[in-house]
Amino acid sequence: ARPVIAIVGRPNVGKSTIFNRIIGDRLAIVEDKPGVTRDRIYGTGEWNGISFSVIDTGGIEIEGEDELIRLIRVQAELAIEEADTIIFMVDAKAGITRADEEVAQLLYRSQKPVVLAVNKVDNLQRMDDIYEFYGLGFGDPVALSGAHGTGIGDLLDAAVAKL
Ligand code: GDP
Ligand code: MG
Repeated sequence: ARPVIAIVGRPNVGKSTIFNRIIGDRLAIVEDKPGVTRDRIYGTGEWNGISFSVIDTGGIEIEGEDELIRLIRVQAELAIEEADTIIFMVDAKAGITRADEEVAQLLYRSQKPVVLAVNKVDNLQRMDDIYEFYGLGFGDPVALSGAHGTGIGDLLDAAVAKL
């Protein structure tokens, strides 16, 4: 079986945008299952000759912070279970939020390798915005922009190295 990379993070950080850039048109056909399973999309990617599966999580619309935190927790736990490497995505424009810290807590406790991806770094002035994310404790963040398609190669280099 292919190794699995899961993309986790709170809503709106750009997970689906990056997922689509990674898979291109290689979307997997999945059964429509009820509940949280339906909230995951599978695709395949390839980088430096290595094929892998990618999981995009967290597509369900939710209301209220408690519900948000609950769903993020369930998604992160499933991703930790299924993935060989996890891409933890955050938003350079928003900075670190409580929901990001919730995800970080779960990832610390897992034994899975984590690549910290800071999305929405749309221009070089924003490179300064990535430093606060060292505080999450996952080492060097990879800066990227789903809008411009920059940094995806660096992200995949880092993720594939940890498979
Ligand atoms: P998800 O909820 O984490 O899957 O996030 P989405 O991929 O749906 O993106 C959320 C919003 O952020 C959308 O409006 C995207 O167009 C926008 N977005 C995604 N990537 C970038 C980026 O690199 N820069 C900016 N400025 N916006 C982005
Ligand atoms: Mg999404």
